[in-house]
Amino acid sequence: MIKPAIEDAIRGAHDTRMIRVGSGAIAGAADVFIDCFGASPAVIVADAATYDVAGAAVERALRNAGVPCRPSYVFAATPAVYADYETVMLIVAHLRHSDSIPVAVGSGTINDIVKLASHLSERRYMVVATAASMDGYTAFGASISRDGYKQTFSCPAPVAVVADTEIVTAAPAALTASGYADLLAKVTAGADWIVADALGAEAIYAPAWHLVQDSLRRWTGNPRGIAHAQPQAVERLTEGLLITGLAMQAHRNSRPASGAEHQFSHLWEMEHLEQEGVWLSHGFKVGIGTVAVSAMYDQFLMHDFSGLDVDRLIRRRPTRDQLAARIASQHTIPILRKKSVEETLAKVPDDDQLRARLTTLRSSWGDLQGRLRRQLLSPEEIRSRLHQAGCPSDPATIGVDQDRLHRSYHGARQIRRRYTVLDTAMETGVFDACVDRLFAADGYWRAA
Ligand SMILES: [Zn+2]
Repeated sequence: MIKPAIEDAIRGAHDTRMIRVGSGAIAGAADVFIDCFGASPAVIVADAATYDVAGAAVERALRNAGVPCRPSYVFAATPAVYADYETVMLIVAHLRHSDSIPVAVGSGTINDIVKLASHLSERRYMVVATAASMDGYTAFGASISRDGYKQTFSCPAPVAVVADTEIVTAAPAALTASGYADLLAKVTAGADWIVADALGAEAIYAPAWHLVQDSLRRWTGNPRGIAHAQPQAVERLTEGLLITGLAMQAHRNSRPASGAEHQFSHLWEMEHLEQEGVWLSHGFKVGIGTVAVSAMYDQFLMHDFSGLDVDRLIRRRPTRDQLAARIASQHTIPILRKKSVEETLAKVPDDDQLRARLTTLRSSWGDLQGRLRRQLLSPEEIRSRLHQAGCPSDPATIGVDQDRLHRSYHGARQIRRRYTVLDTAMETGVFDACVDRLFAADGYWRAA
């Protein structure tokens, strides 16, 4: 079935034309394919697990409906498929043998690989979702590692998405929990967009904003239901993740779904946090990032910016060269050092821009503070929900100790040119005070 909310969201989408969500939706996969791609042949791309739970059934349904199927590309169970550029090129090579339309069967990794491979092969694709594990199914762009650096490649979203909620609900609990954390992250992502909008850094695009934020409380209101794989809770989560992706598609970038909390996650990924311990999903890292950012907001909101000494802040700011040298000295990984300097300098305003921004903050602080308080949840509440949903809620459980977390507040700000509360805290001169407070003997992170 098509949910009314999804039908609404599709109207603003550039690439996706059809979404089928519901119990037994997989039975309609062949019809969806034919509606979207006519008589074109299909090729399934899956891994061993997703081929078992859905790929084989989709292939059978396609054949029964008369769709020619080229040999499927099924990744072995081990080693786990990784979303890197070399893997994308394997699929590009496989697609070169025929003019077939890729049907990705899987979740985050398989979808991202096929999304980029399809784009590089100049063809469209369709995805059959096997888990509610992240919001990337319907998003514009694919998150792929190249030369050790995780980046978002611009490429169109799928033409069609099929999400059978029976299959999605039966997915491993950690995948569903990851999707919950990725959706709960829209609380801080939304706050960051409010800040960027209010200070003239990046305007809110209302249609995308409303798609995500108007239903966010409903989608994330039952974390226990997520842990217990209750069909209604997982269905709401699936709807939320798909609509969030459509909001990114409508906005043509990830701003509606991603703020500073995602920058913590990207940073840890590039620092190869994973290699030091167990596998960590995107959502699990983002979840801890969401706690970190909401704790930062707690501190930030305690300041009163209505008396800001704008001239003094501008006089005392470092030059671009000083800033570049300071950032470079904070990184030991070469690619991270280079990118951090590049990305941070890209968002540094000139004196006039900064004066305008800080003057706006000073005059509208009361209003902005109120909007942010209404948008945010406390770090305790975020943590409690993550815990109830079955996600890690403590940095240590994902291998992030206090020192690393402390450094990450700086690193997360530098890693991306997106304007977030971390930048506002820096520009107003309260960044160190906020972070130091969090790590003081009685501060949030020591007590937590
Ligand atoms: Zn995400």
